[in-house]
Amino acid sequence: MKAVCWHGTNDVRVDTVPDPKIINPRDAIIKITSTAICGSDLHLYDGYNPTMKPGDILGHEFMGEVVELGSAVKNVNIGDRVVVPFTISCGSCFFCNRDLWSLCDNSNPNAWMVEKIMGYSPSGLFGYSHMTGGYAGGQAEYARVPFADTGLFKIPDGLTDEQVLFLTDIFPTGYMAAENCDIQPGDTVAIWGCGPVGQFAIKSAYMLGAERVIAIDRVPERLKMAEEQSKAEIINYEEVDAGEALKEMTGGRGPDSCMDAVGMEAHGAGLDGFYDQAKQALRLETDRPTALRQAIVACRKGGTVSVPGVYTGFIDKVPMGAFMNKGLTMKTGQTHVHRYFRPLLEHIQNGDIDPSYIITHRMKIEDAPHAYEIFKHKKDNCIKVVLKP
Ligand code: NAD
Ligand code: ZN
Repeated sequence: MKAVCWHGTNDVRVDTVPDPKIINPRDAIIKITSTAICGSDLHLYDGYNPTMKPGDILGHEFMGEVVELGSAVKNVNIGDRVVVPFTISCGSCFFCNRDLWSLCDNSNPNAWMVEKIMGYSPSGLFGYSHMTGGYAGGQAEYARVPFADTGLFKIPDGLTDEQVLFLTDIFPTGYMAAENCDIQPGDTVAIWGCGPVGQFAIKSAYMLGAERVIAIDRVPERLKMAEEQSKAEIINYEEVDAGEALKEMTGGRGPDSCMDAVGMEAHGAGLDGFYDQAKQALRLETDRPTALRQAIVACRKGGTVSVPGVYTGFIDKVPMGAFMNKGLTMKTGQTHVHRYFRPLLEHIQNGDIDPSYIITHRMKIEDAPHAYEIFKHKKDNCIKVVLKP
């Protein structure tokens, strides 16, 4: 089959690789009909996530048709159209039983690699390096889905791929990040990053009752999308100081919650940006936390900082004094996708939201190298690419 494979920093190729096979009774094989590139894939593309090997198949946002089932998978049938959460979860461990699917204890066979730096390992993830299991991803013609009896969600008739594809990751991610803001009636939520995750976080914050959502980025078409599609107020941080602007917009008190939907590759202006670039280049710091620092400092006293943005290692110069003295709460995590599938599908079915609005590019899987390039550099107004095998 054809698959998008990682070959090194800024080097993805469409290779011909062996078709996946059922290896466990709880596996399924999916013939992929739509797959997307995520901001998280850029951390791999840019070479910041360790334990990638040349030839690894990328992709964790994919859906398709069931073509083969292991003997233990009874909840779906051959031919069903399904969406696959990016997190792999056994469905029966301590964590899955507590609805904490991205923390599954049984799906990462390489947990030992993570335990060295994190103490305990989160769940396995599709197409996301060997330290999260080394699973082949879904930017391909076919994929093997382990624990398919918990990890396949059947799509009702009448919905297009583009309407439901983002239930795999970014819609639940934006939603969980907004939930993590603990929004109360009348609240103002500030969101750093207007990529796909930020866009769904804005919509979700309003769905969860925020009165105002203020979105921060520097890419004009992303700010425009936030404003036009979701009625966010916007700040271009290259034109004004985001912290000062937020203070002014909130009558001097600060937003009730602040969200870092940027993560470890934040662009930094000014001195701290330069500091992070230099330290990351020297491998003295693995992640660049510009947005996180700003979110902590900008947040009102007693507020909440929600961090859907991905971090993999260690960060410097975190304003812990501000965090502690202002009595802030922080909530974060890889998304518990399984938890959100049904309620968010209902929102799509009810017409509350059509997530396909964020798609700016539709391409063939053969065009993946070009797609990564334009998504990374925000060329051609690219916000979200869907690839068709
Ligand atoms: P993206 O790269 O398309 O978007 C990031 C946006 O942040 C860009 O628009 C960029 O211009 C903006 N940005 C960069 N530096 C900034 C700064 N200093 N201040 C404000 N904005 C800044 O990515 P995405 O797909 O939207 O994903 C965003 C983050 O969420 C990534 O870190 C990704 O890995 C993460 N993510 C997490 C989960 C999860 O389960 N927690 C799931 C999916 C994605
Ligand atoms: Zn993703």
